Amino acid sequence: MQIVRNNVELFNALAVARLQGNIIGFVPTMGALHQGHLSLITESQTTCDITICSIFVNPTQFNDKKDLEKYPRTEEADLKMLSAANCDVVYLPTVEDIYPADWICPEFDFGNLDKVMEGAHRPGHFKGMSQVVHRLLWLVQPNKIFMGQKDFQQQTIVKKMLALLNWKVELVRCDIVREADGLAMSSRNVRLNKDERQQALAISRTLLQLDKIKFSSPIDFCNWAISELEKQSLIKVEYVEIVDTITLQAVDNWNTKQELVCCIAAKVGEVRLIDNVLIK
Ligand code: AMP
Repeated sequence: MQIVRNNVELFNALAVARLQGNIIGFVPTMGALHQGHLSLITESQTTCDITICSIFVNPTQFNDKKDLEKYPRTEEADLKMLSAANCDVVYLPTVEDIYPADWICPEFDFGNLDKVMEGAHRPGHFKGMSQVVHRLLWLVQPNKIFMGQKDFQQQTIVKKMLALLNWKVELVRCDIVREADGLAMSSRNVRLNKDERQQALAISRTLLQLDKIKFSSPIDFCNWAISELEKQSLIKVEYVEIVDTITLQAVDNWNTKQELVCCIAAKVGEVRLIDNVLIK
């Protein structure tokens, strides 16, 4: 596994592969890796010749400074995991590499997509996220980018960015990997204490009870879900929404041909968690 720490090393690491026409698969992360991240690496390896993973805790997408400071950084363990997973290249850029002084920061009009759910609760988050993904894609120039369904709105917005730029990078959406008890894996889970970890289970438990037959309308489910979650003393719900997977507009009935997703964001103690489930 090659470890590269600036964009010159990155270019050199991929130059031969590119010349030989290899398919390059890219997995952007913020590190503190877990099996969820590794599933993206595995998915890339199944259809790509070269898999590159980046680890960069992007300061511009954190609207909460404390969250940025507390974000776990575990470089040594991450590199071990990636090496064991046979990742080909790891890119660990510095802030200067990603945001050079002469960098022109692109702005995108995502319409409704970045205004709802996470966008409404984390001002500036998607501006920072789209800018870093744009910069990383520009530097890595992959054929495919692998992103988790876990961050549903994020991958929807990246897909929109690629469409706006007419950029022929294929975005592959990968399933959510969960702990054995159902909790969606997240780098933030290590910050949960024992009680919080136990109560956090209510999020996936509630989502997995979403059955269109049992709830007369989406809002009926959302109200029930909020009341279930708030039975947990350590949980504060930010939102529960059922939206169209393409427009991210909330729907008010089940009679739609569009694929729907139910998204939850909640704070468990001080730790903000998100999860979602696609609706069949
Ligand atoms: P992050 O390091 O949190 O920025 O996540 C990097 C990528 O891993 C994103 O595309 C996430 O959606 C994805 N990811 C995070 N958690 C999971 C999970 N539990 N299962 C699958 N993918 C995940």
